[in-house]
Amino acid sequence: MRLNVLVLPGDGIGVEVTREAVRVLRHAAARWRHDLALSEALLGGIAIHKTGSPLPGETLRLASEADATLMGAVGLPEFDNAPPEKRPEKGLLGLRQALGVYANLRPVRAHASQLDSSPLKNHLVEGADMIIVRELTGGLYYGVPRGITEDGAETRAVNTMTYTRSEIERVARVAFRLAQARRKKVTSVDKSNVLENSQLWRRVVTEVAREYPDVALDHMLVDNCAMQLILNPRRFDIVLTENMFGDILSDEGAVLAGSIGMLPSASIGDRRPSGAWVGLYEPVHGSAPDIAGQNKANPLGAIGSVAAMLEYSFGLKEEASAVDAAIDAVLSSGKVTADLRPSGAPATTEQVGQAVCAAIG
Ligand code: NAD
Repeated sequence: MRLNVLVLPGDGIGVEVTREAVRVLRHAAARWRHDLALSEALLGGIAIHKTGSPLPGETLRLASEADATLMGAVGLPEFDNAPPEKRPEKGLLGLRQALGVYANLRPVRAHASQLDSSPLKNHLVEGADMIIVRELTGGLYYGVPRGITEDGAETRAVNTMTYTRSEIERVARVAFRLAQARRKKVTSVDKSNVLENSQLWRRVVTEVAREYPDVALDHMLVDNCAMQLILNPRRFDIVLTENMFGDILSDEGAVLAGSIGMLPSASIGDRRPSGAWVGLYEPVHGSAPDIAGQNKANPLGAIGSVAAMLEYSFGLKEEASAVDAAIDAVLSSGKVTADLRPSGAPATTEQVGQAVCAAIG
């Protein structure tokens, strides 16, 4: 199969973790004899430095031509006080919107060999295995009006949380389809006791659920969900929620998995006329300026994102399972980066990438 993949290393540790993810992708492509066509482009802070824009036109063009895009992370401290249009994160938001990837899938699994890395008690996290499905192209992060205005003596900031029925329906269907292939349970998370937006969300998700009678649906308020994720994570199979709630809740998943560096994500849109699913794959973590350039970032979130790409964009389930199994094997072997090994000699980012390739065989 021809795998036409665009790589956007981005900023900070994004560069280091995508290098290892690409190593694993090349290895898997060679092992299963796929024809891998890789291209690379600029996104985020590095793109601002080199072109003046966080999302250059050339990057957009290459992303729209690729079958799948692998992204590292964006964000550089020197842009922390820059206006929104000139921030690295704007490039990522623009890319997600341009690709129309409206469903962000964030698998959270407590790996048996890493239970001690979680600050939670082993008996709470053991067996936790869920996918957080976050709506990605709507809600507060995109709604208008938005901005900061000066009105006489007062300064006002406005953001708008907006969803349409069709935006909710399409992401809900992704969640229910995923549930059908798993434990057949969707928990829809909202704030319907306060927000009209969430009332529409709850109503539409309930209607979509009727199309999937084999899947059980329950609803949970986001504040309670934040608590239940920690108290009883095993109760969740698919967690379906809107953009900002999903952004926040999925970082809690890092506590269950042991480190944010472990978490992969897949952002899926509609099918291309060719039949391929549009997909953007990236680890959940950011650019981690505190450890950038030190060869100590955990690349397993980025490598797990390659597994997700093989499965969702290319339908290569055997290859995807082999990469996931290799990640498990490396975790069990103890060859892990410092975030998973508070004492003893940790492996480097590069050594973990090499170990995953060796485990694939
Ligand atoms: P972060 O995820 O970059 O880092 C949070 C903490 O986790 C840091 O202590 C970091 O060292 C650690 N960490 C993160 N990834 C790790 C890995 N792979 N291995 C080991 N440790 C890891 O979040 P932050 O510090 O809030 O943000 C830093 C920058 O990243 C900001 O500019 C922010 O806007 C950006 N950001 C980008 C994305 C993205 O590109 N998708 C996501 C979140 C934050």
